[in-house]
Formats: sequence, C-alpha cells, structure tokens
Amino acid sequence: MKKLFKTILMLSLIGLLSLTAFFFYMAGRSYELSNSVVLQPPYDFEPSILDFHKSLFVADLHADTFTAVDSFMQRKDYAHLDFARAQEGGFSLLTMSVATEVPLSMVRRKPEGVARGGNLIKLGSFASLEPIGNWLSNYQRGLWIIDNIHRTVEENADQLALITTREDLEELLAEHLGGDDKRIGILLAVEGGHILEADVDRLDELYTRGIRMFSLTHAFDNEYGGASEGVDQYGITTAGMALLARLQELGIIVDIAHASPALVDDILRSVESPIVYSHGGVRGVCDADRNLSESALEKIQANGGLVAIGFWDRVLCGDSVADIAASMRYVADRIGVEHVAIGSDFDGGVKTVFDATGLPLLTEALLDAGFSDGEIRQIMGENYTRLLLASLPTQTH
Ligand SMILES: [Zn+2]
Repeated sequence: MKKLFKTILMLSLIGLLSLTAFFFYMAGRSYELSNSVVLQPPYDFEPSILDFHKSLFVADLHADTFTAVDSFMQRKDYAHLDFARAQEGGFSLLTMSVATEVPLSMVRRKPEGVARGGNLIKLGSFASLEPIGNWLSNYQRGLWIIDNIHRTVEENADQLALITTREDLEELLAEHLGGDDKRIGILLAVEGGHILEADVDRLDELYTRGIRMFSLTHAFDNEYGGASEGVDQYGITTAGMALLARLQELGIIVDIAHASPALVDDILRSVESPIVYSHGGVRGVCDADRNLSESALEKIQANGGLVAIGFWDRVLCGDSVADIAASMRYVADRIGVEHVAIGSDFDGGVKTVFDATGLPLLTEALLDAGFSDGEIRQIMGENYTRLLLASLPTQTH
C-alpha cells in the first residue's frame, strides 16, 4: 500500500514537472508560432528606394512586443519586432501596446463572436513563471509590462527614448533630422480598459507611468463598451462614459481600434480631441468585422483623427505589400491622405506581410500606388507626429 502511494506520488510529481516544462516551452513557442510572416527575410530593396525610406521619420501606432516578451533588445530570427530589426527597417517611433486579457475564444473563434472567459495571458504569465500577482490581476500584469518597458529604455538610454511629452517628441524629431545618433522613440498605449479591473481611478497611475493612448475595448465586450469582434457589440456603458471623461481630462489619446460600431459612434459623438484607430482596415476594401465602416471614416475625418492600416491578412483581405498600400490608397481617396498612418500590429498574434526589416517594401508599394514623396512622409510618420504634438502634454503641464 505504502509502495503504491509512493509510486503515485512520484508519478504525479513527474507529471507536474513535465507539465510545467511543457507550458514554459509552449509559452515561448506560441510567441514564435503565432507571429509569422508571409515574406521571409532578408528582403531586397532598390538602392534609391532604400535611400528615400531611410530619410523618413517612421512612426507606428501599434505593436504588441512587450505584451508578449521582455526581450526587445535581443535580435531574433522569428516573430516580427525587436530593437535591431526596428532599426534596420527604419522605424523612428514605436507605440508599444499593453494588453492584459486574451479570452480562450480569441484563439478558437466562433461565428457568434469573441466571448469573455479564460485568459491566455494569465496562463502565459504562469507558464513563464512571472510574479504571482501577474497570474491573478490584469492591473498587476499591466504595471509589470510597463515597468519592463521603462527598465529597457533606462538600460538603453543611448538607443531608446520614452516619449511622454511634446518636448520628448520635439527632441526626438530634431535628433532624426540631425543624422547619426538616432534613438527610437517608445510611446506607451493600453489595449483594453479591463486593465483597470473596474477601477477608473487607476487610470491616473497609468498616466503617471507614461500611458498616452488608450482603447476602451480589446476583442471582446467589456464593462466599458462593446467590441467589434464581441458577442453583443453594445455601445458605451455608464462606466465607459466615466472612463472616457477621465481620459479626456488627462489628455490621453483615445484609440477606437476594436470598438464596436455603436461604441465608435458614441466615442466620436463625445470626444473633441482627435482620436486614432491604431491598427486595422476598412470595410470599403475588406468586409471584416473589426474594420471601419464608411460612416466611421467620415466621422474620423471630421474629428481630425487617424486611420492606421495594419500589416496582416485578416484586415486587408490579402497578404501582399500592395494590399497594405491599397487600403491606404482607399482611405486617402475617401477622407484625405492626412488621415492615413501605419499600425503594424507586430507581435500581436497575427501573420504580417513582412517583419520589421521589410518596411522599405511598403515605401516602394506606396510609390507604386501613386503617392508622392511628401504623401509617403505623411503616411509613414508625419500624420502621427502632428497629432502627437497637438495631443501630448508639455513638460510644464
Ligand atoms: Zn489589437
């Protein structure tokens, strides 16, 4: 009897250890497998196009690298984005998103939409042996990601610059005009109000820690509003109104990516400052649930906001570089080129056309789509920096 007990104990222990090892391995592998590319690097570029591309200030509205991993400075030959590849691709400013909840049904999508329930990010926290607080709390894991970004920037202050004020951005812009020692700017964003765990007061702490862009929803309906891929897709809730009001008081840029059509309407009705749609596509080109309708485009035009086109198949209805340029061409023709920007969604669990080193391919495709050099400068970065210069607080503020 005692022997049987010992055997069972040993077997359970071995089982538990191998399960932990398996999860640890899978956490790493899932980052690699869920962030693939259509065109494998290295890429070939025309020297003249590469020269022009290198002269651009390139600013991306959405990447998820730090939500997935804390190894931005380590060059990798998988997934989409790290410091070396961002530099090679000519990126000047990256908006790093903090996402805290990925329901199980986001992976196995059903026709009725993404329902809340289970959180793969928490499972990943556990499997990657992160601090216990991360396993239990969206807010704690959010702060942990933000701390990782701060530490990375501080340890690499000659290569990275955190952008939280207008002066920070002006300094970075001047540096890029000047030539050699170009740091890459990092702007912090939150994807999904559920990071607050129903406590809107926590927004002030996130602002203090540098968050400057914020979306009420991610892929599922939450306590603040409905999501474009959610089940019920309702508009703004009472809690959402309170959150929106505080976002505006603090001057945090409101992001409508992942918002349901009703929520997009509600936000655009009550927000005066320019909003962004940080990553996605448009229904006029690709009839995907998360893409912007014609009426939303018109409202964004009136609001002075930006439509940042993503680099992956599901929002483009295509997987070529020309497909990215086609969506940008559509938005430019409908509401004006000054509203077009880039929102890669690198490392966001998507299959992008290229990794960060392939960005000059987009410059080439934009030239092919008939955009002028000046318009390409706008799309690749100037439209976004214009909005940021108007939205970010000043140091004395
Ligand atoms: Zn997203």
